[in-house]
Amino acid sequence: MTDATATLPLSPPLPAAGRAVARRPRPVVVDVLAAAAGVGLGVTVGLGVVGESAGSLRAAGGVATASGRLTGLVGTYLMLIVLLLVARVPALERAVGQDRLVRWHRRLGPWPLVLLGAHGALICVGYAQQARTGVWHELGVLLGSYPGVLAATVGFGLLVMAGVTSARIARRRMSHETWWSVHLYTYLAAALSFSHQLATGAAFVGHPATRTWWTILWLGTAGLALVYRVGLPLWRSARHQLRVVDVRPEAPGVVSLILRGRAMDRLAVAGGQFFQWRILKPGLWWQAHPYSISALPHGAYLRVTVKDLGDHSRALAALTPGTRVAVEGPYGAFTAHARGGDRVLLIGAGVGTTPIRALLEDLPRHVDTQVIVRGSTADSVVLGDELAALAARRGAGLHVLAGPRSRVAVDHRTLRRLVADVADRDIYVCGPAGFTAEVLVAARRLGVPEHHLHHEDFQP
Ligand SMILES: Cc1cc2nc3c(=O)[nH]c(=O)nc-3n(C[C@H](O)[C@H](O)[C@H](O)COP(=O)(O)OP(=O)(O)OC[C@H]3O[C@@H](n4cnc5c(N)ncnc54)[C@H](O)[C@@H]3O)c2cc1C
Repeated sequence: MTDATATLPLSPPLPAAGRAVARRPRPVVVDVLAAAAGVGLGVTVGLGVVGESAGSLRAAGGVATASGRLTGLVGTYLMLIVLLLVARVPALERAVGQDRLVRWHRRLGPWPLVLLGAHGALICVGYAQQARTGVWHELGVLLGSYPGVLAATVGFGLLVMAGVTSARIARRRMSHETWWSVHLYTYLAAALSFSHQLATGAAFVGHPATRTWWTILWLGTAGLALVYRVGLPLWRSARHQLRVVDVRPEAPGVVSLILRGRAMDRLAVAGGQFFQWRILKPGLWWQAHPYSISALPHGAYLRVTVKDLGDHSRALAALTPGTRVAVEGPYGAFTAHARGGDRVLLIGAGVGTTPIRALLEDLPRHVDTQVIVRGSTADSVVLGDELAALAARRGAGLHVLAGPRSRVAVDHRTLRRLVADVADRDIYVCGPAGFTAEVLVAARRLGVPEHHLHHEDFQP
């Protein structure tokens, strides 16, 4: 056993003095940003409308062209919002959580595609009516002689590709890495479309104020994405210089990675949060995977506990001490801050017990805590001994449910039997997707309000 494994397992239940504490989420940030997005949409629609005149609308093809311009402006604006949702802006990540941001990104994602598709079609129709030619002929003219239109069309094709590969049915058939690489082209797609907007958009040509507004919007989005998706992770990784010091088996197919870093007292991370981990060695450096911390940073050490579910998670078990690791994060709103009251119930199964363990460690001492963990046998609960020691130390109730899934269900009867006041508690659940769904159904049936339900999903 190395010094790391000897010192890590149990850190004090309250953040140690001097350790950077994760910032409290500020829900007001979400309201302010949502209001700003609404105002921005209003300004954008306004630009489109002001750019038209009664005369241009009455001219041949005027209605189609004006509609095409408006759909182009609104579609582009929504595309920027869709990109901003996943720009990893820390205040948003803390207040909303990455899983919800990604869900919003997915829900909103098809709209820019539809609007930009409509933009292209309507402009072709409008220009063809005006020139009294055919739509296909006009498409050729636009591609061949309008500045930036060809590049924008290529960009639209890339966007469609990203959209199609994100459809549930397509995602199931491809690896996460393939999907991610295709998705990266979205940034190229956005960049390719920019020049034709300023060069040919009726709302911009000869309108310096609207050009400035549009440029600020684009530069702002690009700047935020660069700073938070690239700059901050690079800076944080350089600052902490994490290296693997030990790989410790925890259960069949489950290992803990113990990492040592510099200035770890400055790493503000909350129990229940996760990082994107990039292992800096040949064959692994190009992909980053999310893993939750399984203990609060302890001195210079940090720990994650990982179940072998595929190539990356399996490769972690074979890492050797000294391997360098880069991180992006911390992310996630599955933290003590999310609770609405001072009574909580933590529920974990499988490798999902590991963020539960970090969360238990991070909950303020006065919070009345109950814990339910599930495993096929009592011994197979991942980090079961640490959960028991932490629960005992703070006087929390720990209930271990052992046995095959077919016999030991975590339904509403079980929850009520184990924790009589379950309906009055905040419930945190992490485990396999089916398990989490089962617990959430049971909790809702018992009347737990939606804002008291918190879950971290390992399969996005
Ligand atoms: C917020 C979050 C926290 C997590 N915390 C932990 C943890 O503490 N311990 C743990 O063992 N596992 C955790 N996971 C799951 C872990 O990220 C995946 O098991 C791992 O990325 C699988 O990669 P693979 O190459 O080993 O397997 P693959 O065969 O490539 O994938 C197995 C499954 O994981 C998904 N997956 C693959 N790569 C990624 C990725 N980069 N991002 C998101 N999902 C991916 C795939 O869609 C598939 O469903 C977490 C996942 C998320 C989203």
